[in-house]
Amino acid sequence: MKQLFLFWQFNGDNRSFCNQHCPYCYGRMGKTYRHYWNNNIDKWERAFKRLKRDIYFVFSYGEAFGSHGFYECVDMIGKHPTWTLNIITNLSFSPERVIHSRLGQDKRVFITACWHPLGVHNPVEGWKTFTTHLLMLKAADIPTHVMMVWYRPQIPLIPDVFEWLDRHDIRFSVRRYVHDTIAHPLFRKILRRVAPKSFAGKIVLDSYTDAEREFLYASTSPKVTKYGLNMSSTYGKLCYAGKDMLLIKHDGTAALCACCYGSPHRVGNIFSSTFKPRTQPTYCPTNTCGGDFGMVVLPDEAFGVLPNQMWKDTFISQTEHLPQGHPVPYPHREEMMKWLEVIRRKPSQS
Ligand code: SF4
Ligand code: SF4
Repeated sequence: MKQLFLFWQFNGDNRSFCNQHCPYCYGRMGKTYRHYWNNNIDKWERAFKRLKRDIYFVFSYGEAFGSHGFYECVDMIGKHPTWTLNIITNLSFSPERVIHSRLGQDKRVFITACWHPLGVHNPVEGWKTFTTHLLMLKAADIPTHVMMVWYRPQIPLIPDVFEWLDRHDIRFSVRRYVHDTIAHPLFRKILRRVAPKSFAGKIVLDSYTDAEREFLYASTSPKVTKYGLNMSSTYGKLCYAGKDMLLIKHDGTAALCACCYGSPHRVGNIFSSTFKPRTQPTYCPTNTCGGDFGMVVLPDEAFGVLPNQMWKDTFISQTEHLPQGHPVPYPHREEMMKWLEVIRRKPSQS
């Protein structure tokens, strides 16, 4: 059975609870730091079971580990042997209970640990906590991958992180960021809404220096480079969002994906007994596919039919097309190091 890729925002979206304050947080313009958990795990479980699909859940909003309802959700997913969970987290909370959960014991949980040195109150203490938790996950054999935002003021801090991760054989990747120096986020939001066809994901590329941009290419899957960094537009391209991928908000509203969740992109409400994902692909309504996960359901003949090794290994999407052997401690590490050297020699242009 084809797996359903499901972003579950049980506690609210990226404006909901988080214990950190990153300058580049995508939810920062409307951050409420509230909890939105509806306290009804049985209702959620019934709704997911009605889908009759194997489900790959992703928690990616605020800080899931600190959210109300978090362990209820982890335990509920764990009860279903064909359900898997990927948690995107700042890893400031201990993963011990997740390690000992059924998901942890069955190795059906994957952790994408994001290190945010500019978002913690005390970077030295924060790093100590982060690395302690990483080592706990590694000792428990829970697949864990570290991610950092390729945000200009943060870039000089990355080599030290590399060094530690390298020593401990933990994979690493970076995520692109649209810098405010090029366009204010509110302007970009409006632009995206009023002119989806011409919304410039190219802004992402223009906001980096040559060296920074090349590093980004070197650490990103070619499909993400093509559609997530606007080498090609996704507007009007047939995509399986809404059918094989859903974004489910805390009130049960289902939408296409993390980029297209406003009212025109709704698919219904998962609590309705008649709810069904779409049966046909949809035409992508925006110019740039913002999340790497969106690439899972966007077909492209150059990359084969739905290269969903990601269903099995959430980290493969970062590495699948890169020329490297196995096992690989880091995606394209040599390239990454080469470009970091260039960046060190060449001061930022902004
Ligand atoms: S840890 Fe994530 S959700 Fe929290 S402030 Fe930072 S970027 Fe935003
Ligand atoms: S291509 Fe990306 S942005 Fe467009 S509908 Fe698909 S997942 Fe969403």
